[in-house]
Amino acid sequence: MEFIDLTTQFQRLENKIRTRMDQVLRHGRFIMGPEVAEFEEKLAHFIGVNHAIGVANGTDALQLALMALEIKPGDRVITTPFSFFATAEVIALIGAIPVFTDIDQDTFNLSASSLEQTIADLETRGTPARAVITVDLFGQPADYPKISALCDKHNLYLIEDAAQGLGGAVGEQKAGSFGTVACTSFFPAKPLGCFGDGGAVMTQDAKIANTLMSLRMHGKGTDKYDNVRIGLNSRLDTLQAAILLEKLAVFAEECDLRNQVAQRYHDGLSGIPELALPKVPENMNSSWAQFTLRCENRDALKSHLTAAQIPSAVYYPCPMHLSTAFAGLQHQTGDFPFAEQASQTVLSIPMSPYLSEQDQERVVQVIRAFFQAD
Ligand SMILES: *Cc1c(COP(=O)(O)O)cnc(C)c1O
Repeated sequence: MEFIDLTTQFQRLENKIRTRMDQVLRHGRFIMGPEVAEFEEKLAHFIGVNHAIGVANGTDALQLALMALEIKPGDRVITTPFSFFATAEVIALIGAIPVFTDIDQDTFNLSASSLEQTIADLETRGTPARAVITVDLFGQPADYPKISALCDKHNLYLIEDAAQGLGGAVGEQKAGSFGTVACTSFFPAKPLGCFGDGGAVMTQDAKIANTLMSLRMHGKGTDKYDNVRIGLNSRLDTLQAAILLEKLAVFAEECDLRNQVAQRYHDGLSGIPELALPKVPENMNSSWAQFTLRCENRDALKSHLTAAQIPSAVYYPCPMHLSTAFAGLQHQTGDFPFAEQASQTVLSIPMSPYLSEQDQERVVQVIRAFFQAD
């Protein structure tokens, strides 16, 4: 059993993917070939936004979003301490200051009430924030109804880090469409993954979209050699776009399959008092990038699974405010108790659209045996 099964999907799509790749090998336009624009258009349509811009990876997508919004060195950007490192890394990379605020205990996502407090604290100190980066952690959209309203009220840009969120929704609105700019990643293990690195930035705003298209190509103006701003070299490869076109065609169906797998886990693992299952708030849909459990004796459960040859993973063992790289922010244990508690108790178990009922039943039985629940 694999933690994330990419093989079954490849077997299913192999012929179509190979045909698409062959077309690229023949036309030879490896950089910004026609598949890139075709994929951008289909991705924008799937998410329900005006513009999707392919870039080199999810980390660059976040950096480009900050650059397009003209976040400057010294500006403060509020985000969650419980995410993949890239979310806060890009803030520091452009010279801005990451300001962490705690997560919600149930959803692992940025807490709207904690955010409100942090916004107020920064205003009181005369150092207001300029932007907020939310993360759709493990596929669960952040609390956009509340967080968007807070950002509007305080005149803050909202950036959605939907690297894990694509395929989720709040009501009818799909992940990848929240905030002024949304970012995603096509790293192979993400819900929509390619065969290498890839990413995209989404926006409804034509002006921001034009800036992003310039920024991903060395700040180009009307022509490639007319450089009007400092940018990056950050494009989505044509080959990756070709692969993504075939994967996007089955993505909605795969999201349904992920939800069925999640439902089976919920049915199989409910009623164990020591084990907390992921809770999806009403009116929200998760892409189930991960199925993440919580329990006090997490490390023992992980060993028990490993002994039964069931892969599992801890995302994330160290909240970012306690990471060595952010030692300069001078945080200490206790600053963000829910993020710290999460990093001590979370365990993600195998999840993919093609996880067989048989394998899944084994995962459930092995976990139930650990808690001696039947
Ligand atoms: C994967 C991920 C990223 C970074 O994406 P890459 O394509 O690996 O650069 C950023 N944020 C979150 C939440 C992620 O899960």
